[in-house]
Amino acid sequence: ETRVRYAPSPTGHLHIGGARTALFNYLLARRNGGKFIVRIEDTDQTRNIENAAEKQMENLKWLGVEWDEGTDLGGPHAPYRQMERLDIYRKYIDQLLSEGKAYYCYATKEELDAEREEQLARGETPRILEKHRNVTAEQRAQFEQEGRVPSIHFLVPDDRVYVVNDVIRGQVTFESKEMGDFVICRPDGIPTYNFAVVIDDYLMDITHVIRGEEHLSNTPRQLMIYEAFGWEPPQFAHLALILNQDGKKMSKRDESIIQFIEQYRDLGFLPQAIVNFIVLLGWSPGGEEEIFQKEELIKLFSLERVNKSPAVFDTIKMNWMNNHYIKQESVEKITELCLPHLQKAGFIEEELSPERYEWVRGIVELHQEKMSYCAQIVPLAALFFLDEVVYDEDAKGVVIEEQVPQVLSALKNHIVNSAEYNVDTIQAILKSVQKETGHKGKALFMPVRVAATGQIHGPDLVKSLYLLGKERVLSRIDQLLV
Ligand code: GLU
Repeated sequence: ETRVRYAPSPTGHLHIGGARTALFNYLLARRNGGKFIVRIEDTDQTRNIENAAEKQMENLKWLGVEWDEGTDLGGPHAPYRQMERLDIYRKYIDQLLSEGKAYYCYATKEELDAEREEQLARGETPRILEKHRNVTAEQRAQFEQEGRVPSIHFLVPDDRVYVVNDVIRGQVTFESKEMGDFVICRPDGIPTYNFAVVIDDYLMDITHVIRGEEHLSNTPRQLMIYEAFGWEPPQFAHLALILNQDGKKMSKRDESIIQFIEQYRDLGFLPQAIVNFIVLLGWSPGGEEEIFQKEELIKLFSLERVNKSPAVFDTIKMNWMNNHYIKQESVEKITELCLPHLQKAGFIEEELSPERYEWVRGIVELHQEKMSYCAQIVPLAALFFLDEVVYDEDAKGVVIEEQVPQVLSALKNHIVNSAEYNVDTIQAILKSVQKETGHKGKALFMPVRVAATGQIHGPDLVKSLYLLGKERVLSRIDQLLV
């Protein structure tokens, strides 16, 4: 059975890269009829942020990336939070200590730093202090008496070559002499990531470790731990970096890209669009097709088709993708996503009467085709909510065309004299104005559009006039006629 996991550290929001890792794990599990586990890796307590893991999980759920075992669901290998598994780790650490594969290190931070400086000065790759590999019982007693609290180091075998057989990257070799001993347990008794991850992946029967490339250099250390226990390691698959449009490694501070799933959600992106977009960051089924529903992805996904070169994050494509899915959605759904933005802009109240909702719905419908994400409703539709009309630069040229006063006066008369104001009557009114003034096409519609909206482009004119409402259209015509 395929068993995979997403193992977030609760150090921040769900990032695009993390979401991609989770998604690939999820798809492989679903594709193979296996299990997807979410495990919280919170042993680096200095970096933990309260509720960060829960928020990440909520965002994963929103994306539709659902797991089978985890802190909230439980499962056969509970607990799924590392800080609740300390007893388990202790047992395995003791085993390594008693077998001489790990040792207590009493070096202070100052000593470690000094050693590091010396190594650098000698032009060596800095390795952790190995002086304490062979402390005698007397030295230990002495250190303990000084009040030193030891950390526990893994004893790295000398002159060995470790080969990571990566499903995506092929064989990657590491020489143990480049690595040096490493900490598996801190002085406070809490294990480090590299140790806990191995124990958990082993005990949780993980078959494939799919994670970001930034962890590739940890993998040989993890292989050493598997070896020390005589355990078979899982398959590894390290996902290539995601680059920004300049071809640089995306940093969390990079402002050219929206990086956190929560931000996309807040802006009114659709989860299915995000899933579709991020799955293509490093994977493709081949062929030209780029639109995939989750169900299709589950059928098509395989690690063999994951690219080993970096993916480039293309914001324009993300927006295009989301626009595609917005167009497919019901007006009601898109309206629901637009409402909070319109409220925040002060355009509408929290509570809408049924008539007012219908009106807002109509405005959303008018702009649905255009929106890349729902927050855009605010700039796109502002002119429907604001009293004052702002004329675009290119609209100003239309205003001075000579037929404008004639067209607008006629329009005004017809609107004033019409008992009804709806899409049909507006249509009829425009016909009458055309007959009466002899102007048609652009000469007729441009002045009307500019007067009503201040813009030369926009959605359907008749519907726009209708949704703007009789009063507003009349007052805007007056504004131009004086
Ligand atoms: N806890 C690690 C992280 O958040 C994940 C490591 C792994 O998947 O092995 O980066």
